[in-house]
This record gives sequence, C-alpha cells and structure tokens, in this order.
Amino acid sequence: VRRLQDVGEQAWIARLVRRLAAGGRDRRVIVGPGDDAAVLRSGSRPLLLTTDSLVEGVHFRAGWLTPAGLGRRAFAVNASDLAAMGGTPTFALLALEAPARTPAADLETLAVGFASAARRAGARLVGGNLVAGPRLGVGATLLGEAPGRVVTRAGARPGDVLYVTGTLGGAGLVVRRLAAGGRGRLPEPPCRLAAGGLLARVARAMIDVSDGLLQDLGHLCRASGVGAEVHAERLPVARSCRRVLEDRAAVFAATAGEDYELLVAIPPGSGRTLERLRPRLGCRLTAVGRVVRGRPRVRLLDGAGRTCRVVRPGFDHFA
Ligand SMILES: [Mg+2]
Repeated sequence: VRRLQDVGEQAWIARLVRRLAAGGRDRRVIVGPGDDAAVLRSGSRPLLLTTDSLVEGVHFRAGWLTPAGLGRRAFAVNASDLAAMGGTPTFALLALEAPARTPAADLETLAVGFASAARRAGARLVGGNLVAGPRLGVGATLLGEAPGRVVTRAGARPGDVLYVTGTLGGAGLVVRRLAAGGRGRLPEPPCRLAAGGLLARVARAMIDVSDGLLQDLGHLCRASGVGAEVHAERLPVARSCRRVLEDRAAVFAATAGEDYELLVAIPPGSGRTLERLRPRLGCRLTAVGRVVRGRPRVRLLDGAGRTCRVVRPGFDHFA
C-alpha cells in the first residue's frame, strides 16, 4: 500500500487533479481544481469557491490561539486564496469538529470571531455544521466574486517581474518557536484582499504564499510552464527573522510559509501602472526576482548569482 507519507501532499494533489481533468471539461467551470480557488460560471459574474481547514495538532496546538483568534484565522487563510485570484469574499460556511469536553462558550467565541472577520471583509457567515471528533478542527468554505479580472497561477511569461507583498519569515519564526515549546500566540495573517484586487489589474499570474515562497512559486511556474529566479538579498525578510537568524534568515523566509502574502508575476512594461496602484495597496510590494524560460524550476540566488542550497522549498503535510 502506498501511503500518503510515501506520496506527499503535493504529489497526491497533482495526481488527483490530472485524473479529474481526464474526465473532460464542464463549460460551467472556468478554473477547476489546482489553483487557489475555483472559478465558476453561475449567473452573470464568475463565482469563486475555496475551502481550507485548521486542525489542532497539525496547524496549531492548544494555547497558540485564542478561540476568537482561531475563528479569525480560519477566515483569513481562506480569504487569502480569494485574494490570490483578485477576488473578494461574499459568503462563508463553517464546518466545526470538536471533542465533547470543549467549553461551549469557546466554540461560540470561535464562530463569532470567524463571523466578525467575514463581516469586516464584506462577507456573511450563512451556514455550517458541528460534529464530534477527537480534536478541534475548523473547516471553512468561502464564496467570492472578482470585481475585475480573475488571475490564476497560469499566465506568467519569461521576463515578468516577480513581486511579493508585505514581509516574509516573521510568522514562520513564531511557529518554529511555539513548536519548540516556546510561549506566545500565532500572529494574525495579513489581509491582502485590497492588494489582490488592485494587483489583479496588472498581474499575469498570482498565488498566495502559505507553504513557503519557493514552493508556492514552484506551483505558479508549473501552472505557467516557466522557470523563475529569486534573489535572496531582495527578499523582504521580517525584521524579527533577520535579527534571530542573521545570515540564515533569507533562506528561512523563502521556505518557512505561514506568511499569507501574495506573489505576483507582472509584465516589465507595467511599471508605471504599478507605481500608480502602489499607494493604495496597503502594504509593501517588493520585486524579488523574475520569470525565466525553461522547465518549471525555481532558483534562489545569492548576492554573487550563485544558486543557494535549499533543503526543503516549503511545507508538505505528508512528505
Ligand atoms: Mg493558496
């Protein structure tokens, strides 16, 4: 028996997506499985649909988050996938799994935290489910729409400049410290819905950085049929990460994940439009590399142009 631990999360998903695609196209499906969100033809505007869950013992441990913080995070990680398509959330479903001993008020605070995060983003929690289970699990499904263009992971071309929003490595560093038994709380993921909507006007391809910049860039490259080069010294490494990890900070920031920032491929000719959008993004936007011709390989380059050795490009649930 080939087990998930033998196959790995990414390879398992890739195989399933190929198998589903072999079943033929459905004209109601604009973007099917394999991107940050599905895009469907339903009514006059494309409908976006995405789902993700947070499971105790896998994504967090007891004490890493307050109940309300966990609810907000469950919304934020899903909203991040919509932002990566240039979309914005409209409605949400919340599927909870909890042990019988869970304090009832905590679970309610969690759901209210999710609902308030949704409302702040212009969305409504309209339904859900609760089942008994061995540990706390928070699954969310978000519906959304795109005010303008929908941007997928496919579409990047050689010569495009790669940009990343915000900073990298800060959240990953906290997770590393917490996992090692340290105290503290997981930081809240940034909300890049506004930035995603604006960047969609100029982006050829976009993905959110949840599992590590190099790994998520690899997904974008495979979907686009291109390679990429990232300059380690250009990465917007979080100050905390630089201070603690010093000369190892850039590789850590490029692979740690948990950032929920946007990685965008923009044609080199869009510089002026981009400068006009920049003040409205609500966050930093840093050029970190470029898209190159060739097979979908991602190289991290040091200051001298040498390829950095990277042991693991990002997070995989089973590998
Ligand atoms: Mg994503």
